Amino acid sequence: MTGRPSRRQMGPSGRTVTLCGLGLLCGLTMLVAVARAMAPASSNAAALARHAFPAVNALHETSVALAEEQVAYAGASEASGAERAKALVEALAAEEAADAQWDLYLQHRPPRADAKPFEQAYEAAHGRGKELETKLVASDPSDPEAASILAAASAELGNEQAAVTKLDSGIYDVVLRDAVAAVRRGMDNTRAALVVSNMALIVIFAAAGYVLMRGARRDQRQMTREQEALRAAAEQSAFDAMLQRGLDMQRDEESALGIAARALSLAAGDITTELLLADSSRAHFRQALATGIGGGGCNAGSPSECPTASNSQTCTFVDTTRLDACSFLAGRDKPEWAVCVPVSIAGETCGVIHAGAPLGQPAPVRFVSDLELIARKAGERIGALRVLARTESQAQLDPLSGLPNRRTLEARSRDLLAQEPPYVVAFADLDHFKAINDQHGHDTGDRALRLFARVLREGVRPVDLVARHGGEEFVAIFPDCSLTDARVVAERIRTNLAAAVGQATVPPFTVTIGLAAGHPGDALADVIAEADLAMLRGKNAGRNRVLAATDAVEAA
Ligand code: GH3
Ligand code: MG
Ligand code: MG
Repeated sequence: MTGRPSRRQMGPSGRTVTLCGLGLLCGLTMLVAVARAMAPASSNAAALARHAFPAVNALHETSVALAEEQVAYAGASEASGAERAKALVEALAAEEAADAQWDLYLQHRPPRADAKPFEQAYEAAHGRGKELETKLVASDPSDPEAASILAAASAELGNEQAAVTKLDSGIYDVVLRDAVAAVRRGMDNTRAALVVSNMALIVIFAAAGYVLMRGARRDQRQMTREQEALRAAAEQSAFDAMLQRGLDMQRDEESALGIAARALSLAAGDITTELLLADSSRAHFRQALATGIGGGGCNAGSPSECPTASNSQTCTFVDTTRLDACSFLAGRDKPEWAVCVPVSIAGETCGVIHAGAPLGQPAPVRFVSDLELIARKAGERIGALRVLARTESQAQLDPLSGLPNRRTLEARSRDLLAQEPPYVVAFADLDHFKAINDQHGHDTGDRALRLFARVLREGVRPVDLVARHGGEEFVAIFPDCSLTDARVVAERIRTNLAAAVGQATVPPFTVTIGLAAGHPGDALADVIAEADLAMLRGKNAGRNRVLAATDAVEAA
């Protein structure tokens, strides 16, 4: 079942997406944090701009206009006539300006309960001042009361000024200071939020970068491992194919063993290897090949003694001096490691590849798998070659007697006679063989045929060729042999048959042998026919004898 990849298994694209998501999240968080930190400062600043500043400004302007009005009243009190009238007009204009600024103040002032009494004081003084002003305008300047009205109006102006001053410096200066301080605090908070969120961003991105780098390094290592595995698999497969081609080209077991030896040298280098193969009885190991230098061989005498061959399993021995080392590897001068791989031929484990080296000498990469490959391929090829050889040999041999058949004799004689020595062909025909079959049965006849085949084979030299020619007829070729010597051999065969028949469980029978000498250039078939003819003449002469083609015919 394949689930969603874990964080550790996440690939490069997954990590990139995660990192982008993380970056986006961090950016948004930073924006929110900065916006939240800025919000109070911003609203304080807006309130300052909308209310506090215009109100305080209007108060200032009111104060300035009141001061101008005061100056004008002072001027009017000291002047007379037109000068006085002009000063009063200026006082009225200043008052209007003060009224306008006061209205502005009332529009913009931030609502404050502590400002109320001063505002009321201003309004009261202003109302009283207005009345006095009306009286003043209506009074006669020469009237002494006009001077007291002017003084009273000036005093009310002082009250207005005092109320404005209280509002300005007593209340709104503080309001402004607090608002500005709040804005500054907001800015400080914003700066702090910016610093903190930037630091957090740096830390988060550093951590994400570190994770990404580790992931990339892990991916790199994984890729390297995969590439190495691919390369090793390609090398192994190339070696496998090369070994297979090399073995397929070999036509006999010795050549196949030669290829196996070269493959072992390639795989093992200097490390000692040897192939122990059992003989046909599986009772003894023989060293079929050896490569390398330095390490000792294995002393196992047969497959049944060898733990690897008897279990058909590769054995690895890390140290031949250890208790669990194979006993056949013990007793070395120096400690060694060893690998033993079973070799199966035609389904039977009848060999072992043993490789070993002193402890300091390491095994090459893929050593065991290479040995197993060589063991498997060599075993398969040797098995196939043995089957082929058996099939070929069966096709060449007469199944009943085990002697070569006529075709094999002709094929083998070609090489033998190409050396152009003189030779003699003996044609042997068992006497009255039909009667043996008739009287004792076909099986007895077969046993008699096998008996004669043995006598014939044992009675000639290894260099001589013998074959069953067909039925109860046999042919022998004696290369580099005179007719005289051939006659001696044929007579010995006849004598040996008589002796063998006496000891065997077959009825007595004899053989008639015809001899013909062959010379370089003679066709073998002609010489055989000549020997056949001599044999027939021997039959006619009474059987159980040897007759050469050149012999005079004896009467039966
Ligand atoms: P002669 O002395 O004239 O050669 O007499 P003969 O009986 O040996 O010759 P003949 O040609 O009449 O008979 C040959 C016999 O050999 C006939 C056949 O049954 C027998 N024979 C041929 N091949 C085999 C075989 O494979 N097994 C057995 N049991 N008998 C065979
Ligand atoms: Mg015959
Ligand atoms: Mg016969």
